[in-house]
Amino acid sequence: MLRGALRFGLGPGLLGRGLGTHRGGSTLGKAEGSGGCRGSGVSPVSSHVTFRTRGPGPRWEDSGSLGAGDWDGKVSEIKKKIQSILPGGAWSPLCDTSHLPPEHSDVVIVGGGVVGLSVAYWLKRLEKQQGAIRVLVVERDHTYSQASTVLSVGGIRQQFSLPENIQLSLFSVEFLRNINEYLAVVDDPPLDLQFNPSGYLFLASEEGATIMENNVKVQRQEGAKVCLMSPEQLRKKFPWINTEGVALASYGLENEGWFDPWCLLQGLRRKVQSMGVLFCHGEVTRFVSSSNHMETASGEKVTLKRIHEVHVKVDHSQEYQPVECAIVVNAAGAWSGRIAELAGIGRGPPGTLQGTKLPVEPRKRYVYLWHCPQGPGLEAPLVADPSGAYFRREGLGNNYLGGCSPSEEEEPDPGNLEVDHDFFQEKVWPHLARRVPAFEALKVRRAWAGYYDYNTFDQNGVVGPHPLVVNMYFATGFSGHGLQQAPAVGRAVAEVMLEGRFQTINLSPFLFSRFYLGEKAQERCII
Ligand SMILES: Cc1cc2nc3c(=O)[nH]c(=O)nc-3n(C[C@H](O)[C@H](O)[C@H](O)COP(=O)(O)OP(=O)(O)OC[C@H]3O[C@@H](n4cnc5c(N)ncnc54)[C@H](O)[C@@H]3O)c2cc1C
Repeated sequence: MLRGALRFGLGPGLLGRGLGTHRGGSTLGKAEGSGGCRGSGVSPVSSHVTFRTRGPGPRWEDSGSLGAGDWDGKVSEIKKKIQSILPGGAWSPLCDTSHLPPEHSDVVIVGGGVVGLSVAYWLKRLEKQQGAIRVLVVERDHTYSQASTVLSVGGIRQQFSLPENIQLSLFSVEFLRNINEYLAVVDDPPLDLQFNPSGYLFLASEEGATIMENNVKVQRQEGAKVCLMSPEQLRKKFPWINTEGVALASYGLENEGWFDPWCLLQGLRRKVQSMGVLFCHGEVTRFVSSSNHMETASGEKVTLKRIHEVHVKVDHSQEYQPVECAIVVNAAGAWSGRIAELAGIGRGPPGTLQGTKLPVEPRKRYVYLWHCPQGPGLEAPLVADPSGAYFRREGLGNNYLGGCSPSEEEEPDPGNLEVDHDFFQEKVWPHLARRVPAFEALKVRRAWAGYYDYNTFDQNGVVGPHPLVVNMYFATGFSGHGLQQAPAVGRAVAEVMLEGRFQTINLSPFLFSRFYLGEKAQERCII
């Protein structure tokens, strides 16, 4: 019964139904024309579940025809007037609260990386009335020193095996190519993503050739321009490649390459701030929620939870600030498994939905940058070798970067981001030098490590609501391809929140429930 209900799919979107915060300070009710959000009953999973109604909060409707944005504006205007009248009124050393998050927000997004910011962007872009949804992004590290986004290698490709991944990437590339139409901010200079449309070149051994052929069929069906190449054709086009052990290659003819992740991150940040999204520098440490115990028709017991408050520990302080909210988005990347645990996800008997964890954990990946005067020229694509090693050009000065994912047994300790230089020597360079003989002589100039937001179940994204913690939405687990999927994933998550279903790309195979149902969304093209 429960399994059947989970397969049935998504219910009406929480935001689309005018869900308010505990305090009732939400602006959503206004947008819906429903006279405020107090007492919003929500039944996101099954229509027979009704949540307790809320007490009255501040009454937006008493403020005449003011929207919440107008109301905030009025309040701050009045405050300014009072301050200017009172002697020394502008001086408030003991209660400077500008660094604190607001006391309530319709949506709290945990994580201000590219995925969290994209969700914020699409929520504001798709809201029915400007200023209708109050969105807060909580980010604990404003330097992004460990964020996957800025430590990634910035690649985008359509060479995946799952139609959903191909579609996500196709939309994202359209977004990136027209970045200044999506992210332009008045009076700010246009963004330059430094997009290098040099393509991806996947090489397959005899063993992988049939899979590659099948993948390319799917890619073409979905609208990607990819060609298959024999070893002879490969030698002709890229004479610097040694085709030994290569039976087939697939090469992206357009919309594949790499770009500057930092520029995308900053562009999104700048844009969402201009759209009224609030930012807070702090760490989400706790959720306060209420529970509803239920029994399904077949006698299975389930507990539905709803988060009411997010506790944010403000930087350089032991204090926390509670933020009342209607929806929490878990976009904490490699740390999103921990955020799910904080919400009680996975705390239940093994084998039950309650006991099913979010299988996302940090996995350390090294990137090495080397110089090779005789290396491939400007036409070089990103090359993915059958061994798992990959490389691409970096800039114009015969510099290259690349790496290789370790085997499951060799996974390094994710406790820090130190680089293992022997790993390059032993596991990466031999494959590179075999594939590109010029790489036999190279000089490593730099290296770094970053975390994949690694989904141990099937290495694919987790998108959409949790079936039991009904107001936690996921946008995480993208493993090695979250940067390129972020623009499209943000839109998908916003659609589900606002409309209750995926509208442009059906990402049902990426719902959380697959972990309980044991249904893998298996992607074969993982780097
Ligand atoms: C070496 C490497 C190469 C990669 N190459 C590519 C590539 O070529 N193409 C591609 O598409 N993808 C690539 N990826 C994957 C991609 O970088 C990630 O999937 C993507 O950046 C995830 O974005 P995010 O916003 O979810 O995570 P992040 O950028 O990590 O952002 C999550 C944020 O959440 C914050 N956070 C965590 N916990 C809390 C908390 N409790 N409170 C407040 N904030 C919190 C963190 O500080 C962090 O800034 C690569 C990754 C790595 C490591």
